Amino acid sequence: MSSYDESQERFEEFLRTYKDDQGTLTYWTRVQQMSINDETSVSIDFQDLISFDNVFMTLAAEDPLKFIETVNDALVAVLRVEDPDYVNSIDITLIKARITNYSEHVALRAIRSKHIGKLLHISGIMMRASEVKPLLVQAVFQCRICDEKIPQTQEEGRYTEPVRCPLCDKKTPMRLLSQESQFRDWQKVRIQESPEELPPGQMPRSIDVILEGDVVDVSRPGDLVKVTGILQTTPDFSRRGGRLATFNIFIEANGVEISEKEHEQIEISEED
Ligand SMILES: [Zn+2]
Repeated sequence: MSSYDESQERFEEFLRTYKDDQGTLTYWTRVQQMSINDETSVSIDFQDLISFDNVFMTLAAEDPLKFIETVNDALVAVLRVEDPDYVNSIDITLIKARITNYSEHVALRAIRSKHIGKLLHISGIMMRASEVKPLLVQAVFQCRICDEKIPQTQEEGRYTEPVRCPLCDKKTPMRLLSQESQFRDWQKVRIQESPEELPPGQMPRSIDVILEGDVVDVSRPGDLVKVTGILQTTPDFSRRGGRLATFNIFIEANGVEISEKEHEQIEISEED
């Protein structure tokens, strides 16, 4: 058995058996109520998880993507046993164990290149929120010449068409079949250092955070939010359109907590 399988089983055990100070089966109760509440995710406090088994600390630090995949797979596996009808009725790629309160809290101004690809915990005031847009994740294209349907996974938010038709072997622009393709809710928000975190005399720093699935629209501009997610990069371009060797950074959110609503003092704006 690989360590991956072992940690997946261990996480399933955590979901089934973890009790809080009052002896409540915190996560198990939530898992059982998912279908009743029409929920697709369960938020997991990382501090609870590592108090259950410290092995998750190592896994999350060494391979954040594998860690997130492991806990998601474990949640799906548990639901398949407990609530198979619910699992069969929804898109299972939407089922998420969302990690909050990760151990490595980094101030926005302390984010550096060494954090790229790592799981981080950040906090700040939400300043702007984009509209919620559909993000294409699994496309079905149709060849304009022979009508063949061609599925194509979309990677990292880039629109990708098949280069040529596998049936008639022609290079042709494809038609996207929206009805047969899968989309996910997507939103970009901007988070700025809160006044308490701001060193005297400094301008506040901010970072873009990408929200997907059931965490879109859970917070509003002006909220103090805490996000656990992975620091990702996108290419930077010069004014003439040439690709630069520098990159822009953003946080791909996994778990989101709203710790305080403070709508009064902050000048807020919504933009596209
Ligand atoms: Zn064709």
